Amino acid sequence: MQTQPTASHFVNGEYVEDTAGEVIDVIYPATGEVIATLHAATPAIVDQALNAAKAAQKEWAGWSPTERGRVLRRAAYMIRDRNHDLSVLETYDTGKPYQETSVADATSGADALEYFGGLAASITGEHIPLGGDFVYTRREPLGVCVGIGAWNYPTQIACWKAAPALACGNAMVFKPSETTPLCALKVAEILHEAGLPAGLFNVVQGYGAVGASLISDPRVDKVSLTGSVPTGRKVYAAAAEGLRHVTMELGGKSPLVIFDDANLENAVSGAIMANFYSTGQVCSNGTRVFVQGGIKEAFLERLVTRLANVKMGDPQDPEVNFGPMASERQRDIVEGFIEKGVAEGARLVTGGKRVEGPGSFLEPTVFANVTDDMTIARDEIFGPVMSVLDFETEEEALARANATEFGLSAGVFTSDLTRAHRMAAGFEAGTCFINSYNDAPVEAPFGGMKLSGVGRENSKAAIEHYSQIKSIYVRMSEMEAPF
Ligand code: NDP
Repeated sequence: MQTQPTASHFVNGEYVEDTAGEVIDVIYPATGEVIATLHAATPAIVDQALNAAKAAQKEWAGWSPTERGRVLRRAAYMIRDRNHDLSVLETYDTGKPYQETSVADATSGADALEYFGGLAASITGEHIPLGGDFVYTRREPLGVCVGIGAWNYPTQIACWKAAPALACGNAMVFKPSETTPLCALKVAEILHEAGLPAGLFNVVQGYGAVGASLISDPRVDKVSLTGSVPTGRKVYAAAAEGLRHVTMELGGKSPLVIFDDANLENAVSGAIMANFYSTGQVCSNGTRVFVQGGIKEAFLERLVTRLANVKMGDPQDPEVNFGPMASERQRDIVEGFIEKGVAEGARLVTGGKRVEGPGSFLEPTVFANVTDDMTIARDEIFGPVMSVLDFETEEEALARANATEFGLSAGVFTSDLTRAHRMAAGFEAGTCFINSYNDAPVEAPFGGMKLSGVGRENSKAAIEHYSQIKSIYVRMSEMEAPF
């Protein structure tokens, strides 16, 4: 497959290049080979993108919402038709196995475009009667939105931000992570092929500095970031300077609580999905797995047996179900955490080692006897490392599950119906799961509490974050004044 794109950026409906920008080598994580060479956006490219977005937005906002929605839905169908090629590219960009990308990435992006395409025509204001007079409201776009993406889900993140933004009548300038810059360009290409007018979805490449220059630009009305908490703090602060709207989808250290009465096989599947999908590089992962005393040994035994079915190798091989880390740098970071886990006294049950040879592969790793104060139980690792913690009572599990500054997700496995709902109500987290983990349907709001974020993506809730309300007072009687 041709992995070198036509040019580094997609601005005003076409590919553009400026070789004066810093070089970005795109590395296939499974082999370490350079598969494309791009350039970071120069100030001239950023300027072109913002100008194009600003110029195109007003006319787009004037389209009938049904017509806007039709473009998005057309793009969704095109993405589904091209799912194979897009999934192969996603695998080159991220190293995630094709077995995953073919069902979870372009398809999830298409879901968002289809959903918000369908919703566009239902984005309306309301009529507020006041006796004779009345107020009506209009739900209007914000203007130019900036999207900044992390490297774990490049297609999905681009679509989750573009779809609601465009449905509401905004324009977007999107900056992918420099680790995975390829997929968003394809999203831009397809949106334009589907009939999106030039300038409405622009992709500019770059490191953090390019993102920072976008956020502080006076032409920008909103910033939506998917990234880590430290970056979130910086981006939020910079956006606040200009009182810009924000959506912050940040990191987590989510709990998964497994009670003695859980269905063992389902609980093990849940823990696997909560820790090892995408080689553990998922923000909502349930990496603190609290297991009640009575089921602990059986849980660990079954988990280790199931992990023997992990198949590492060339991620393009559909039989492979576990890919490399997205970058060498990320593998080094995760190995550092594994060393800390051992040094602080956790019991290494399985894994823990890098796989020698090409590519940034790391074994799926499970620690048991983890305590709340250990580094591996407190910090987001963002890799295939599960920490199993012991507990005895429901009250204890809930208190310890919530004893974190993060609040992205939480899950519970139990066959006690009322306990499941009590736990879900008690979790301090934006997205909770009962007898499941890590499902992210576009119909459901997704986002974090506490340090894990601000705002919600997906669902009708996202409309609130990509539009603003205007009230219009209408007097039906004579206007009175004191003099
Ligand atoms: P980073 O926070 O390092 O980077 C996120 C993006 O922000 C990148 O495009 C980055 O560019 C850019 N950036 C960095 N500094 C600035 C700045 N000062 N101003 C503007 N933009 C900036 O995250 P990672 O890419 O390492 O992704 C992993 C993190 O993302 C994890 O913490 C994970 O939990 C979180 N995440 C959250 C999700 C959610 O929905 N809640 C989903 C997926 C991931 P560059 O890479 O070039 O520095």
